[in-house]
Amino acid sequence: MDAWKKLLAESYDEKNIEKALTKFHLSTKEIEEIKKVGAAYPLRVNPYYLGLIKKKGDAVWKQCIADEQELKDTEGLSDPLHEEEQSPVPGLIHRYPDRVLFLCSNQCSMYCRFCTRKRRVGHPDREISLSQIMKGIDYIKNHKEIRDVILSGGDPLMLSNDKLEFILKQIRAIKHVQIIRIGTRMPCALPQRITKKLCRMLAKYHPLYINTHFNHPQEITKESINACSMLADAGIALGNQSVLLKGVNDNPKIMKELVQKLLIMRVKPYYLYQADIVKGTRHFRTEISKGLEIIHSLQGFTSGMAVPHYVIDAPGGGGKIPLLPTYLIGEKKDRKSGKTTIVLKNYEGKTYEYPLP
Ligand SMILES: *Cc1c(COP(=O)(O)O)cnc(C)c1O
Ligand code: SF4
Repeated sequence: MDAWKKLLAESYDEKNIEKALTKFHLSTKEIEEIKKVGAAYPLRVNPYYLGLIKKKGDAVWKQCIADEQELKDTEGLSDPLHEEEQSPVPGLIHRYPDRVLFLCSNQCSMYCRFCTRKRRVGHPDREISLSQIMKGIDYIKNHKEIRDVILSGGDPLMLSNDKLEFILKQIRAIKHVQIIRIGTRMPCALPQRITKKLCRMLAKYHPLYINTHFNHPQEITKESINACSMLADAGIALGNQSVLLKGVNDNPKIMKELVQKLLIMRVKPYYLYQADIVKGTRHFRTEISKGLEIIHSLQGFTSGMAVPHYVIDAPGGGGKIPLLPTYLIGEKKDRKSGKTTIVLKNYEGKTYEYPLP
């Protein structure tokens, strides 16, 4: 058996989570709480990701161990981005003009407590059938405007190599599809999934991009560095999508360390998401000023390559809207010449002027 399959099979869930947490000496009440929440929202932690926890309540713990606050969220919605409404066939979200998000697994190697798709991931009644996948492929075939297909989920790398290759092959055979992307948390959550065999298979379907999902420097280990190197060596361009999470990474110092370490392993920070208004995740949401402060602390202070786009995915399905600190602070008009000069602030807060032509 592949190492990753063995680790996955040894994952903990709401039935046996106490075994995973013995070394943290939780009270019976704390264990009961975790199990109660795990019954309401899927709970899965594989032994690799569990091993990244250094102490109770740390940045890794918060991402994977259920918290009683999930059940106290009265604000959140099950599908704030109206993904179900924007799916012309089940599991295929067509929101933007030229690209689609194709959900091809509802399973993950761990269930993130803040997941935007809490409504469907890990639920046995939301498993994705082959006939649903075929309908998605047909839709892509029949829509010539689709030039970019993003495999998502859940985690597409939960599929076997054969199943995944079947899907990639079908999509690659469609003439108007230019690029294929895969969104996966495996390089972070279960890097053993990235095998030589998988990389050889993926490399047949270029141009292929992978966006992964690291939220904290503690998740960067020799295993994840190895996984990303293998993917990069297979010619796959790697990006990272982080979610801004209270108590996990809502801190400029942590984010700077994360983005710099991502670049070292050839992963380009792509998006930093404001947390969506998803039911059960209220305790993770931050102020917008926090995200802006993080972007401001990166831009100019470190490699431009390291700075992700900070976005809000608009509630109601409006798509991603970028948010930027303000650098354009005003403009001046010269009375005599009629010429305009704009006033800018640089990363250090110094003022500069740029005369317009
Ligand atoms: C994020 C997303 C995409 C991809 O957006 P990019 O900005 O191109 O990365 C496509 N479709 C949906 C529904 C999305 O949520
Ligand atoms: S890996 Fe992605 S889809 Fe799966 S639970 Fe985490 S955030 Fe959700």
